[in-house]
Amino acid sequence: MTVPPMVSSRNCEGCTMCCKLLSITELSKPRQHWCDNCEIGKGCKIYPERPKECVDFYCTYLLDIRIGEEWKPSQCRMVLTFEDHANRIVIHVDRGRANAWTKEPYYSQIKNWAVRAAAVRGQVVVWQGLDAIIVLPNTDKNLGRVRDDQLIITSEKRTPQGVVLDAVLMDRDDPRLSGLELPNHDDPRTVSTNRGETD
Ligand code: SF4
Ligand code: SF4
Repeated sequence: MTVPPMVSSRNCEGCTMCCKLLSITELSKPRQHWCDNCEIGKGCKIYPERPKECVDFYCTYLLDIRIGEEWKPSQCRMVLTFEDHANRIVIHVDRGRANAWTKEPYYSQIKNWAVRAAAVRGQVVVWQGLDAIIVLPNTDKNLGRVRDDQLIITSEKRTPQGVVLDAVLMDRDDPRLSGLELPNHDDPRTVSTNRGETD
């Protein structure tokens, strides 16, 4: 993998939050548990031999200059990622500070992202501990635990008052999804998604 360009003033020093908040398939490490190989706040004890998932991972704070310093994961206890394949912003929140995303200066930014995502059929998902919350322009919906074989489906309904967005969990093999182009479900750090429309 080519190393993506990083914001020159940012690095992982003093931060190991992704080693807690994200799952690592190769290590059978679940979300929200510190990796056994992590020296918390310092780094990885097996750095040269760490799994490829870890080698390939860069949080959005490191990659995107538009993300403010307040998003430094070691400080805010949240890890931002952008999932290209699903056009989705994900905010992984430490369950020890589960409501952090609802506070300012974070919440208004997250809602702005939701408005912009809706315009391009993207999604904004908060992992609040083990629950997935989809953030929509008009509401935040807690979808609870999401199984690996489930998808978050965003729908839009045209009403006299305008377009109303909603989201539900559906099994990947649900016949109502036939005909929709579904993403590969090969990234254990993500919730798979697609978007359906209702009339
Ligand atoms: S969360 Fe981001 S800044 Fe922190 S250790 Fe992981 S990649 Fe580095
Ligand atoms: S193997 Fe190393 S880099 Fe990967 S999650 Fe564990 S401590 Fe972090």
